[in-house]
Amino acid sequence: MARLRLIWQVFPAFVLILLSSLLAMSWVVTGLVAGFHEQEARSSLEDRLSLMRLPLDEALRQGGTALADARCKVLARQSSTRFTLIGRDGAVLADSAELPAAMENHGHRPEVRTAMDGGIGYARRQSTTLHQDMVYVAVPLTFGDPASPVLRAALPVTALDRHVKRIYRGAALAGLAVLVVAAALSLLLGRHITRPLRWMLLQTDCFAAGELDGRLRFRHSLEMDALAEGLNRMAGQLDERLRTVSRQHNELNAILASMTEGVIAIDAGYRIMKLNAAAARMLEIQEGDAQGRTLLDVIRNLALQEMAMSALASPEGCEGDVTLHQNTGDRYLQARGAMLRDAGGTRIGAVVVLNDVTRLRRLENLRREFVANVSHELRTPITSIQGFVETLQDGALEDSVAARRFLNIIAEQAERLGAIIEDLLLLSKAERDAELGALAPEWCSVAGLVQAAIQTCAHKQEEKRINVTVDCPEDLQVRAQPNLLRQVVVNLLDNALTYSPTSDTVAISATSDVTGSVHLRVRDHGCGIAPEHHARIFERFYRVDRARSRESGGTGLGLAIVKHIMQAHGGLVTVDSAPGQGSTFTITLPTADTPHGNALLTNN
Ligand code: ADP
Repeated sequence: MARLRLIWQVFPAFVLILLSSLLAMSWVVTGLVAGFHEQEARSSLEDRLSLMRLPLDEALRQGGTALADARCKVLARQSSTRFTLIGRDGAVLADSAELPAAMENHGHRPEVRTAMDGGIGYARRQSTTLHQDMVYVAVPLTFGDPASPVLRAALPVTALDRHVKRIYRGAALAGLAVLVVAAALSLLLGRHITRPLRWMLLQTDCFAAGELDGRLRFRHSLEMDALAEGLNRMAGQLDERLRTVSRQHNELNAILASMTEGVIAIDAGYRIMKLNAAAARMLEIQEGDAQGRTLLDVIRNLALQEMAMSALASPEGCEGDVTLHQNTGDRYLQARGAMLRDAGGTRIGAVVVLNDVTRLRRLENLRREFVANVSHELRTPITSIQGFVETLQDGALEDSVAARRFLNIIAEQAERLGAIIEDLLLLSKAERDAELGALAPEWCSVAGLVQAAIQTCAHKQEEKRINVTVDCPEDLQVRAQPNLLRQVVVNLLDNALTYSPTSDTVAISATSDVTGSVHLRVRDHGCGIAPEHHARIFERFYRVDRARSRESGGTGLGLAIVKHIMQAHGGLVTVDSAPGQGSTFTITLPTADTPHGNALLTNN
């Protein structure tokens, strides 16, 4: 049902009450007035009958019915009243309006019967003689005489009714006027009372729309003013609370956004209530897309789903590992779940905190791999040494030729062992220096470093009769740790000599570019390296041709050392090579004013 405005609910009811009261009052008053008039007419007729009784009695006695009839007519004219004299048998003896002989018997008229019984008869009805509504009063002509005829007086009620109708009309008009004035006044009053309610309604609409700054300002009645004041206070408190909630919400968002741990809050139906940026990053989803969707819908991972289920079910919380298989590789998460409760202690959901341990796991794997590699690399020469020592102990020492050969092999393996350990120490130092930023760089001549490296590798160069050319400006300087940078050049030159055929050429060149960076290249024309190995040759113990590397005394650590030393200097090493085309290794050192030595290490 359509709801009406308050004023249209009150106003018609008010008008209805007013109308019914007026009608009831008019009905009672007009009834009373009509009754009063009838009573008046009756007593007036009774008075007239009292005056008429004597003269008519006399006329009847002296002149009979003819004289009585004549007197009746005269007296009626004087008093504008109809008089009828009726005998005991009901026959009309005299009548002021008609010929008595022509009139019917009146013995059965109720007023006549009452008068015949000695009382005063009264009636109101339509006259069969005159055909109009009349009021009749009848009395015995002589009271106390049972043989007395009855004298009746009658008045037409038309005059009476006209008078009563005038009163009715007057009352109706007055009532209508009262109704109109009262309705208009009540409408005005209603409007006056409901106007502040309309203002309040408009203002509460604004409050509901979040505009809590506005206030109700009017002076009306005590109650309305108090109500407005109450609404204003409520809006003020609401505003204050909303600000607090919004501030806390922002703080919470800021905290969640700045967390490195992923946070996922779900409700009891597994719908995501909150998911921070770190969690979105870890799960590789859009932060905004997840809101309101179920966890399973957002990320199809059984372990995470089970974690959410246990967090929702167990009040003590739970822990577990979650592995996500992503395009970029597996991501390992450590997850902790806890139940979420509201202020009343009722469970409203759960929160799962994710810690990305992928890097740690990778480092752990690398460490394990490294230890296995180192053990393997060390075991080979040690096993060889042990074998030959046992052979010597078992009697080979007596055979001087064999003993000398075995001792040479033992010395070679011991040297190899020493080389591996030395390289490992060097690698570890390079890593540590890079990590701690402990490099003490100084200006050093590139040409000087190159010459020193050539000196170090002179034995192998001579052995393989390789021509090493150098193209390096004498005045080219770099800011570096000289011993480490020399080691870099030695490792690159040593590889170039190792993997070049005898009597070949190795070219070393150095240049600086417009930015001030220095590029040092070591080029050989050896076997070259297939592209699929380019990324891996800088890993520790990675070799393209394991047997050849061992045979040539390689430890598999040379390029890893180069890479880490370059990283410690904020530089880099690249390779350009193809099978049968030779290889060019380039190291790039940044300009002197570029901060270096604190470059992040990768641990392979
Ligand atoms: P190694 O001690 O075995 O030389 P490195 O770390 O120095 O170890 O080199 C890793 C691998 O890269 C080598 O085993 C070799 O297969 C390849 N390599 C390095 N330098 C060259 C080069 N100049 N020519 C061809 N292959 C090379």
